[in-house]
Amino acid sequence: MRFQKNVTNNWKDTFNKQSKLNQLITRSNLLGADLKVTNFGGGNTSSKILLKDPITKKMENILFVKGSGGDLGSIKEDGFASLYLDKFNNLKNIYRGFNHEDEMVGYYPMCTFNNNPRAASIDTPLHAYVPFPEVDHTHPDSIIALATMSNGRDIINKVYQGRVGWLNWQRPGFDLGLKMENLIEKNKDIMGIVLGHHGLFTWGNTSKECYSNSIQLIKKAQTYLNNSIKKYSFGKPIYKKKTHPDFEEKLITTIRGLLSTENSKILHLDKSDITLEFVNSQNLKKVAAVGTSCPDHFLRTKRLPMVLPPLSVLIKNESKITKIIEENLLKYKEAYTKYYNRNKSKGSPNLRDPYPVIILIPEYGMMSFAKNKSTARVSSEFFCNAMNVMKGAEGISKYTGLTEKEAFRIEYWDLEEAKLKRMPPEKELAGKVALITGAAGGIGSATANKFLNEGCCVVLTDIDKSALEAKKKEFINKFGKDVVHSIPMDVTNEKEVKKAVSSSINAFGGIDILVANAGFSSASLFENTSSKLWDKNMDILAKGSFLISREVYQKMIDQNNGGSIIFIASKNSLNASKGASAYSVAKSSLLHLSRSIALEGSNYRIRSNVINPDAVIQGSKIWQGEWKKQRAASNKISINNVEDFYKNRSLLKVSILPEDIAEGIYFFASSKSQKSTGNIINIDGGNITSFTR
Ligand SMILES: [Zn+2]
Repeated sequence: MRFQKNVTNNWKDTFNKQSKLNQLITRSNLLGADLKVTNFGGGNTSSKILLKDPITKKMENILFVKGSGGDLGSIKEDGFASLYLDKFNNLKNIYRGFNHEDEMVGYYPMCTFNNNPRAASIDTPLHAYVPFPEVDHTHPDSIIALATMSNGRDIINKVYQGRVGWLNWQRPGFDLGLKMENLIEKNKDIMGIVLGHHGLFTWGNTSKECYSNSIQLIKKAQTYLNNSIKKYSFGKPIYKKKTHPDFEEKLITTIRGLLSTENSKILHLDKSDITLEFVNSQNLKKVAAVGTSCPDHFLRTKRLPMVLPPLSVLIKNESKITKIIEENLLKYKEAYTKYYNRNKSKGSPNLRDPYPVIILIPEYGMMSFAKNKSTARVSSEFFCNAMNVMKGAEGISKYTGLTEKEAFRIEYWDLEEAKLKRMPPEKELAGKVALITGAAGGIGSATANKFLNEGCCVVLTDIDKSALEAKKKEFINKFGKDVVHSIPMDVTNEKEVKKAVSSSINAFGGIDILVANAGFSSASLFENTSSKLWDKNMDILAKGSFLISREVYQKMIDQNNGGSIIFIASKNSLNASKGASAYSVAKSSLLHLSRSIALEGSNYRIRSNVINPDAVIQGSKIWQGEWKKQRAASNKISINNVEDFYKNRSLLKVSILPEDIAEGIYFFASSKSQKSTGNIINIDGGNITSFTR
């Protein structure tokens, strides 16, 4: 095995008992579960099923075909468009020819069966006009590798011995559907079609037959590649993987900062075998310059990646690293702008973000940057698919890309532009990364929830490992695994603080927002306050906040893209309570810590502000223990009346909830407070003794 492990046929005979539509869903999920079969979001499947028309009660042939958006791996019934096949066939009568094929997309919704809101994709005619009930379309690395070889058609003929047809590259659409129908009619014994530079179509009379044909043809391509591929597809390896964690962090934050000047971007790192094989190879630059091939790729990865000098060269030039990255980005931007200007025509959509999505670094791996984590991850997966394709093609023949003109036409296709325009506007914290300490507690988790709702990537840290793990699970269930990262951290331990920040940078590319929230409380009359209790307050509240904010502040300077630091202090920082001297003094230190950071940070557009909560009892860990008892004693009330006591003490007579504090924190984190630093907001229901003056 030199290319990749063969795919397996996972069809079970029990599936044959399912309804035709459920068999289609099962088959789609099986195909989408293996990235070797098709890339994320790539490919589509269909069934033509006889159903009763709800109005005429006549039996009609209905085409169920994967609609726009979604992924085969997780598709359910609502992911399929449903169309009257008869009507769709009639579109042939009004088709005006190749130059007008994009207008046909406007007719697809008019063929809808049963008021289904799922939009039919541009691939619909490729399914409708294949004269079989079941059709699969996939993007297997192995078959695309054959289909991108300079002699692709001959290789396909040789591997499949005439049992698979070939069509040269053409953008999917109405015309390609007609060409496929014609090819199948003229070649009754073919069992599939390979589309040059694109992928595979197979068909069958049942789901089992169709799926088995897909797997069989993919396996055949894999076997051929595994047996015939050269030892070094990309030429000999000339670099070896190296690591230098401190420098890597600096490299990541510098690149992210430079890429995020207009819109903040999120990183995905990949150091997989195929990536390292490619970036460390002799022919990296040569092959990368040919560009990715499969049409799905351009929109996510851009046609070309950016290749930086090897890690060791960057390390040697550490003092000039910003300049080196800037120069490379500028070169990429200029080349991309020229590519746009060379290829644009009247009516082309405007130039999009001209910076790279994929960045390759010999000795290190691949970085991808996008407006959110899932897009960055998927772009990286797409480029892994592209490298597999290049490996297969270069390992046997010569890899060829699409012409620049054709690549441009796909990247700036009106239909794709329309899709981009339909996307909802970005949320307030999209592209931002926040680290929250004490994230398993009431205020910490309410803040994480608020930030995640606003599109932020969140790093949860807490000293309580099991509570942290539970919170992480809760948020992954609610917001998906891409946007949540967690790492246990004791804020008083300098090593753990460094490790947490480093892990955040490797997960998302940097930190834009710090919420220094980890807390602790103690109560003791002054005469009884031990030096141990004093130190503990100082360690967790003052030193802990100092350590994490200094570490994040340094990284924000490297990012050179501003930042917001928010300290969660207390009403006690302005107005000390009796019996809480150590706590009050430690909390009040946060006011000056924040002001000091605000003073020096302004040079770097780093803002620092304070939230003073008071009496947030619900969900709070600090109110679970002795503190509540002692506060009750100190205020001469029963422990059951604590919440009411604080409520009635406030001017507004309200209880303060973690969610109320999260709103204030969000204000300081968001651009709504971009002109505010060195400030304090009290969220206490109104407390006259804490009025700031
Ligand atoms: Zn396709």
